[in-house]
Amino acid sequence: MAEHTDFLRDVVVVGGGAAGLSAALTLARARRSVTVVDAGQPRNAPADAVHGLLGLEGLSPLELLVRGRQEVRRYGGEILDDEVVDVSSASYGFSVVLRGGVVLRARRLLIATGLVDELPDIPGVREQWGRGVLHCPYCHGWEVRDRRIGVLGTNPMALHKAILFSQWSSDVVFFTHDLQLEGQERAKLEALGVAIVAGRISRLEIEDDHVSGVRLGETVVAVDAVVVSTPMVARTELFAGIGIAATAHPAGAFIETDASGATSVPGVWAAGNSSNIGAQVGAAAAAGALTAQGINTDLIMKDLDRAVAAAAASSTDGTPTMEHTFDHEYWDQIWQGDRVTAMGNSQANPHLIRETGNLAPGTALDAGCGAGTEAIWLATHGWKVTGADIASAALDRAAGRAADAGVADQVQWVQADLSTWEPDAQYDLVTTHYAHPAMPQLDFYDRTASWVAPEAPSSSLATSTAGPVGTITSTEVITGTAGTSTDRPLRPRQPLPTSPHASIPLSGRS
Ligand SMILES: Cc1cc2nc3c(=O)[nH]c(=O)nc-3n(C[C@H](O)[C@H](O)[C@H](O)COP(=O)(O)OP(=O)(O)OC[C@H]3O[C@@H](n4cnc5c(N)ncnc54)[C@H](O)[C@@H]3O)c2cc1C
Repeated sequence: MAEHTDFLRDVVVVGGGAAGLSAALTLARARRSVTVVDAGQPRNAPADAVHGLLGLEGLSPLELLVRGRQEVRRYGGEILDDEVVDVSSASYGFSVVLRGGVVLRARRLLIATGLVDELPDIPGVREQWGRGVLHCPYCHGWEVRDRRIGVLGTNPMALHKAILFSQWSSDVVFFTHDLQLEGQERAKLEALGVAIVAGRISRLEIEDDHVSGVRLGETVVAVDAVVVSTPMVARTELFAGIGIAATAHPAGAFIETDASGATSVPGVWAAGNSSNIGAQVGAAAAAGALTAQGINTDLIMKDLDRAVAAAAASSTDGTPTMEHTFDHEYWDQIWQGDRVTAMGNSQANPHLIRETGNLAPGTALDAGCGAGTEAIWLATHGWKVTGADIASAALDRAAGRAADAGVADQVQWVQADLSTWEPDAQYDLVTTHYAHPAMPQLDFYDRTASWVAPEAPSSSLATSTAGPVGTITSTEVITGTAGTSTDRPLRPRQPLPTSPHASIPLSGRS
């Protein structure tokens, strides 16, 4: 599967209608990397014009989107003609799979997929949808003013439509079809001069590609256009796996957001018809712009928090301490960045080589494996290795390098936050070199020590750490003399080197 692994985007926008493109324009102008994926089926595509949109009145719906795409691209936004077929959460944010096989990564996700108008199953309705079959007086009312308008009673909201359309025409007919009108409902229609025709509709009559009547058995009532009330259901199935569900509404279903467009799922936002089923084009575009502002502010604040944490984690002379609290976003960005080439090309840790060189290979865990230098070295020396790291970007590089080294079958890669992860198995060897867990380093060594198989005939734990502060020896970790509670016996296949200080301050990362 092809992957757009070249960089971690700030935002992927799913859906490139008015809402999605408007959001992308604002995000691109905010200097955000943004990719819009659009399947090219905006809701109003069947209509020949967008009405009620100030400054652009009467423009073709598709022309509006063509212009919108040009504007987004002008500021560096990316637009892909494709369909999103899967979305999942990832350490860095979201992984977005396209039908064409591309996988996109993003820190934030904007749902702008619009909604589905669930049309009644009456012959002629689907064929004339958006032309002779209408749903919205503000979109089409002017165009059918003073004409003969038939309102189909396919759902309880139809009564409301009949009342609305009587503002545009005095010749409105209400077809009861599935509905039983209450006395008060009937009285309202009659007061407005709306004729009521009882009975089930069998189909629409179409002449020269225009609606000419509504047929009920042998009877045809002449009309110039019909109005349907369609349940309007936001497209949410795709996002169920990341915790997005539709909220029921009398007129359909929508994604709940706060005023800024944020959903209840961290990092996921929604705009346009997906979160407001009543939004016309102008409102959808406005919501997109507003939501983009919310996303941009969220990203700014997130990066600010990180910068403050990084500054606080530095000692007075600027040397990084071992108390890092950097998260997966930080590490994914690091592994997507320029440093990656240098970090990914280093030699295997010499202390690991020294400590394990005489051991018979078994199962090994490299906790915080980065781009996999040590894990691959172990694999090439016969170990069955698990490489775990918080950064998916690092693991992708590691997997590629393992394949290049011909040991792909010997290593499995696990994306995990090592401060909370619980491995399924224990290992003959646990090694950690450059991990910066979000917990005190010695507590972290307690955790890693607990992953060494206690009953294995030849268990061992080899540890070395990065940086001049907080270095710890493998022997200390193994015996607990460094302040850990580890009292797990170490039974190496070969005696460990006699030097009690088997680990040394190292710099760099695999
Ligand atoms: C017949 C009709 C006529 C209308 N006329 C007017 C009018 O005159 N004036 C007016 O203001 N409003 C009008 N509207 C309303 C208008 O269509 C909506 O307000 C507007 O389309 C909402 O924009 P949106 O961006 O939320 O959704 P949409 O415009 O529907 O855009 C959603 C986009 O997301 C894409 N998408 C969906 N799922 C995926 C996926 N998995 N992967 C990638 N892409 C995906 C779709 O293909 C689509 O391109 C009309 C509606 C209808 C039905």
